Amino acid sequence: MAASPFPAYVSTRGSSPDVDFVGALLAGVAPDGGLYVPTFWPQLTETAAAATGTADLAAAILAPFVGDSLPAGTLDRAAARLTDQFSHPDTTPLVELESGLFVLELFHGPTAAFKDYAMQMVAVLAEAALGARGERLLLVTATSGDTGAAAVRAFGGVDRIDLVVLHPLGRVSPVQRLQMTTSGAANVLNLAVRGDFDDCQRLVKGLLAHRALTAGRRVSSVNSINWARLAGQIPYYVSAAQALGRSAGKATYVVPTGNFGDAFAGWAARRMGLPMGGLVAATNRNDALVRALETGVYERIQAEPTASVSMDVQAPSNFERLVFEASGRDSALTRGLFEDFSRHGRVTLPSELLAALRREVSAVSVSEAETRHEMARTHAETGRVICPHTAVALHAARRLDRSAGPVVALSTAHPAKFPEAVEAALGFAPERPPQLEGLEGRTEVFDTIDPSLDAVLAAIGRVD
Ligand SMILES: *Cc1c(COP(=O)(O)O)cnc(C)c1O
Repeated sequence: MAASPFPAYVSTRGSSPDVDFVGALLAGVAPDGGLYVPTFWPQLTETAAAATGTADLAAAILAPFVGDSLPAGTLDRAAARLTDQFSHPDTTPLVELESGLFVLELFHGPTAAFKDYAMQMVAVLAEAALGARGERLLLVTATSGDTGAAAVRAFGGVDRIDLVVLHPLGRVSPVQRLQMTTSGAANVLNLAVRGDFDDCQRLVKGLLAHRALTAGRRVSSVNSINWARLAGQIPYYVSAAQALGRSAGKATYVVPTGNFGDAFAGWAARRMGLPMGGLVAATNRNDALVRALETGVYERIQAEPTASVSMDVQAPSNFERLVFEASGRDSALTRGLFEDFSRHGRVTLPSELLAALRREVSAVSVSEAETRHEMARTHAETGRVICPHTAVALHAARRLDRSAGPVVALSTAHPAKFPEAVEAALGFAPERPPQLEGLEGRTEVFDTIDPSLDAVLAAIGRVD
């Protein structure tokens, strides 16, 4: 039998059957609790070089991942959204702040955060997949604010899909909350959970594994545990490299990190052949990743609220994908570690794995004071207003040696999503872009629930 030119998807925990792209998209997590990863990494080489324009480039990069699992033309329609739904002609413009220091603006989409980029495409892909199969899908999603907004915008009103969004009560910015709760879409249920983001994430995992809920129906998630979401974030690294031109091969990307999805997409881009000088995950004081790489102990502690709310994560879900890859795809090891982690909230990484992880990425934590200072400094020096997430990355980026190559900080949200944080740092509120106007006038709909699986199931049951 000839080898397929397209990867299938296997679980990081090694005991789920292989699925195709649509199988991974519609499942979210693998049945054994692991995350889907491709059986091999397609190489970029000619595809990327031949593509011109954001949509063509994204379609070319994603085509091998999608394979023949979707009706012809679907991927092109999905990628066309990167130009239709984004307000900047370059979709993700690369801006040089000072010599060798760049920001990659990922916030020109309809909800003004980077998550629009993949989410807009995934909505088209999911709708087509369900249409072809004549099936419905229940999507459950945990959000620290931006994923929910992007998901509501992308999936609101989409046929065959019901969307449930769990956000931590009082821990998202008012703009983020309004974006989620005022859509008026009949297929969207918003739940405010009395807990933190990690509680929301745990509940989503619980829902995906819940026998009675999943019996006879498809339930998935559009968090970056979903392979389709994650793959959809790879193309902008390639666009950034094209924009950098000759110096791209030495570029270091600094990624403001919560669940490590965006950073893992950068890792994937490099694994697919994109030359890179380095990859840095920048966290706020919720620094599970930094501690893990420094001490070898991966431990979940209570997440603390920060100005960069979308990164208030202490159990970054995509760390599992990195561990799988860094261990040489050792699914037994990965399974053992993450089953232990979910039981005890703490695991010790074997020293060989730790050394391998350190070769793949580095991680730094940025304090609240440093974040505010960075927002003020960038405004004073360049006149630009940046969001606190971008500030975390930019602060970490400035610590790097730029003589080794350009440094690119990913700018993940528009500052107007976080007016309180901007005001605290700069003394004035940011201007709103057109896509964030008029939110306050609309009716909000959401339920408030306790952080228990029963409470979520009851809420879903009421609308089912
Ligand atoms: C989600 C988010 C992040 C973190 O991305 P991960 O993929 O979860 O690491 C950073 N900044 C903003 C603005 C976000 O919305």
